[in-house]
Amino acid sequence: MLAMWGFATLNASPSELTIRAMLRGTMRFRSSNVVRIDPFIGIPLVYWGIRVRHLKKDYPRDIRFTSLTHPRKLLQGLLDSGFTPSGIQKDQCLACGHFLAAEVVTCPKCGWSYDT
Ligand SMILES: [Zn+2]
Repeated sequence: MLAMWGFATLNASPSELTIRAMLRGTMRFRSSNVVRIDPFIGIPLVYWGIRVRHLKKDYPRDIRFTSLTHPRKLLQGLLDSGFTPSGIQKDQCLACGHFLAAEVVTCPKCGWSYDT
């Protein structure tokens, strides 16, 4: 699966998810690096896409890929490519390792947040 938008390219295969962004360079994820991929909708058609929740500490925590394609369709295409997130299913604070309850975005222990 290959999707392109603006300056970024998203490429998914069963073993790897790759996002190439002109300003950030190439980010590669194995399925074990990725906890979850969620669709997000900021402004329909303008700012929507998918959000990659991952465990790689050297990458930006909140990685979003925006696209003209509806996020659900984009996500489906990604899953159809065979890429399956297999990182720890619970969300884990990337700063201190504390496990976060589902949908909690701020770590109660150290204050780190996915939303910063
Ligand atoms: Zn924490």
